[in-house]
Amino acid sequence: MSESANSPDPRTSSSASPSPLKTSQLDQLRSNFRDFPWHRVNWVSAVFLIVTPPLAVLLTSLYVWNHGWSWGLTWLLIGSFTISNLLITVGYHRLFAHRAFEVPGWVRFFLVMLGAGCFQGTCLQWSTDHRRHHRVVDSDEDPYTIGKGFFFAHIGWMLMKDQHPESKRYVPDLANDRWVKLQHDYYLPIAIFAGWILPGLVAWACGLGFWPGVLVGGLLRIVLSEHSTFLINSAAHTFGGQPYTDKNSARDNWIMAFLTFGEGYHNYHHYFQADYRNGVRWYQWDPTKWTIWTMSALGMARRLKRVSGAEILKAKIAMEQKRMAARGASQERLQALRDRIESSHKRMQELQFQMKSEMKLRVAQRAERRRVAQAERQAQLAELRAEVALAQVEFRNAVAAWKAYARAWRTAIQT
Ligand SMILES: [Zn+2]
Ligand SMILES: [Zn+2]
Repeated sequence: MSESANSPDPRTSSSASPSPLKTSQLDQLRSNFRDFPWHRVNWVSAVFLIVTPPLAVLLTSLYVWNHGWSWGLTWLLIGSFTISNLLITVGYHRLFAHRAFEVPGWVRFFLVMLGAGCFQGTCLQWSTDHRRHHRVVDSDEDPYTIGKGFFFAHIGWMLMKDQHPESKRYVPDLANDRWVKLQHDYYLPIAIFAGWILPGLVAWACGLGFWPGVLVGGLLRIVLSEHSTFLINSAAHTFGGQPYTDKNSARDNWIMAFLTFGEGYHNYHHYFQADYRNGVRWYQWDPTKWTIWTMSALGMARRLKRVSGAEILKAKIAMEQKRMAARGASQERLQALRDRIESSHKRMQELQFQMKSEMKLRVAQRAERRRVAQAERQAQLAELRAEVALAQVEFRNAVAAWKAYARAWRTAIQT
């Protein structure tokens, strides 16, 4: 055995002076601290985001310890959390960032002013970041790219100053909106009133007390609502399936949809971002889409944008083709089936467009009371209707042929 093998380990033998390992670790820590780009830290945002969660837990625990909890406070928390999330998903996200529908001026005013109380920044900045996220998703310019890790996408990006601050080109429409501008210019007083004082006043009016309202409907609700929104940037770009596109990291995930008021159908949203729905099936959990639909039924929203069922189906089939071809299915066969779907869909669209034009003409002719010509048009219209019905049958048959082939192919590769 060599001498060096028997000699005591220098890293543990000395008790008087610091060990070399500890010294090198300390040096490393010091140099990391020195080299950290402190000038890039967004102190206001960083302190708020780091301090509020433990403060909310501490103050709520102290309150419960001293005063107990009540059903009233439970309802205040659920109600304020729901309203807060909807202000972001309905207002900031689908209305202001994506223009997925339109609202009257007074609804716009309430959405933007109360939205300030969610403490997620001004509507103008939020929409700028979000439109940029969609435009350059997953790239270095994406403000909350998942490429820099889960923590960065969730919260880390807000702790540092933006490296691409000049992004006004993304929001020319919002920069000229008077309520959005007003909220941007006087953000702090509006946010403090909507986010802290208003819940306090509501709680006081309900007999729960002003300060418990500020604590539960303000602080605690802000923390919970913020992290629900942040999950869309982190978890909805990490966990789940990609039924519509694999060209970006966005995922569809019903658990995330449940936690984020419907925004978890994020793969669909990145592919069809102007659609007012994220969960397109009636059973998919999307309270945001239900709220917008209810608003339209009450006259508080109009021109809801939605992608047609055929377009959605075609996007899914294109993705399925890619996956099946990668696993060895016949590319020619798949392409032939898809071409049939494409051509039948095109024919269906052309005929539907023709039919709409004919109907408009008919209305115009009725106004002119030209009976003979109208009778001719009636016959033409009936013919067109029959052709559209035939085209629809062909489209359905083409999709059914695709599904039958995909099913048979799956069974074949499993056996
Ligand atoms: Zn996204
Ligand atoms: Zn979006």
